[in-house]
Amino acid sequence: MSAANRSVSILGVTGSIGRSTIDVIEQVRARGGDVRVEAVTAGRNVAALADACRRLRPRFAAVADAGQLDEARTALAELNVEVGAGPSALEEAGARPADWVMSAIVGAAGLAPTMAAVRRGALIAIANKECLICAGPLMLKAAADSGAKLLPVDSEHNAIFQVLTHPARVERLTLTASGGPFRTWTREAMAAARPDQAVAHPNWSMGAKISVDSATLMNKGLELIEASYLFDTPEERIGVLIHPQSIVHSLVHYADGSVLAQLSAPDMRTPIAHALAWPDRVAVSTNRLDLAAISSLSFEEPNLERFPALGLARTALKAGPARVAALSAANEIAVEAFLSGQIGFLDISQIVEEAMATLEGTEAGLIAKTPSSFDEVAAVDRAARGAARRIAGRLAAA
Ligand code: NAD
Ligand code: MG
Repeated sequence: MSAANRSVSILGVTGSIGRSTIDVIEQVRARGGDVRVEAVTAGRNVAALADACRRLRPRFAAVADAGQLDEARTALAELNVEVGAGPSALEEAGARPADWVMSAIVGAAGLAPTMAAVRRGALIAIANKECLICAGPLMLKAAADSGAKLLPVDSEHNAIFQVLTHPARVERLTLTASGGPFRTWTREAMAAARPDQAVAHPNWSMGAKISVDSATLMNKGLELIEASYLFDTPEERIGVLIHPQSIVHSLVHYADGSVLAQLSAPDMRTPIAHALAWPDRVAVSTNRLDLAAISSLSFEEPNLERFPALGLARTALKAGPARVAALSAANEIAVEAFLSGQIGFLDISQIVEEAMATLEGTEAGLIAKTPSSFDEVAAVDRAARGAARRIAGRLAAA
């Protein structure tokens, strides 16, 4: 089945990935493709949800906050769309019968709606890395049981997916990273970095949370974990290379010395279109690659002293799934505290590191074992957020 006759749902339709997905769907429709939209969801922005519904004409639209049901009903009144609100409505959006579901909510908040789609065996375009990271083994097991297929959308993982011709013959993977807005900054300069500077990414326009993660390099740490889960590859066989131009999106090294990479201009519509049309391809106009204009591509090792988040993620990945879930949850809290002006930029990694150390003491049993249920994932998530909030509060008061 190609993109031309797929039914789709978009979880997180109002975000950066959600808006790029709308653009791709409109382009496919304009070329005669019949992409029917089953369900869309948004966090709090009802006006943006209404705009998405006018363009996509879904059957069902949901907002995250149950208190916004009336507001959403009013905004969508003329559109002949069923409206829901609150956690069960978000899950219903994932559960409704669409062939393909874009998982593009930010953070662990996307887990339940994504799992509703995984459980019914859909094609899942997975942009929301945090939901995979917090419940990796459980999500992969559920996908194997239901027949759901996870299609990586994160540009690095989509690149690997595209060139993974012989999984059994892979020697190692290399994830590329732009290095973010502070690639050349000193620790002293980063200590004074403001949220607007952290969010101003040199190559990509993205949501605030992933932009801050790109500035700390925690994004690459989370992507290391994502790659380990998606491609069943241990931590020591995944490298990271700083590549400031963001043209080579990642590399697969094979046993015969061949290295395969996927190249494209930094434009998320390319991996989104790839996932939408998979296993086919579809014509979509995107920013095109002009190598002569770029003229040179450069690569360098990441600096772990200036960007400790990458090392924290490696340590968590080696230690197992509960530590990985705790790391990501603590990071969500730390990034929120930074974006709201409570703490400094360097405090983000500090909070994650301290939260992990705290949990080793207070929750040793909880984080030592692989969660065997989503309730156990939620318990780890709560403990990590609690620890991170306490540390953030202390740093904010200091
Ligand atoms: P964003 O902040 O622009 O959008 C997030 C979406 O999630 C919005 O629709 C928002 O309304 C919704 N949302 C936020 N909090 C919610 C909650 N508590 N409950 C329900 N919905 C909620 O983020 P984004 O940049 O589009 O990123 C989305 C995901 O994709 C992230 O996990 C990110 O890491 C990943 N990703 C993004 C990019 C990119 O280029 N933007 C690239 C790779 C991966
Ligand atoms: Mg990425």
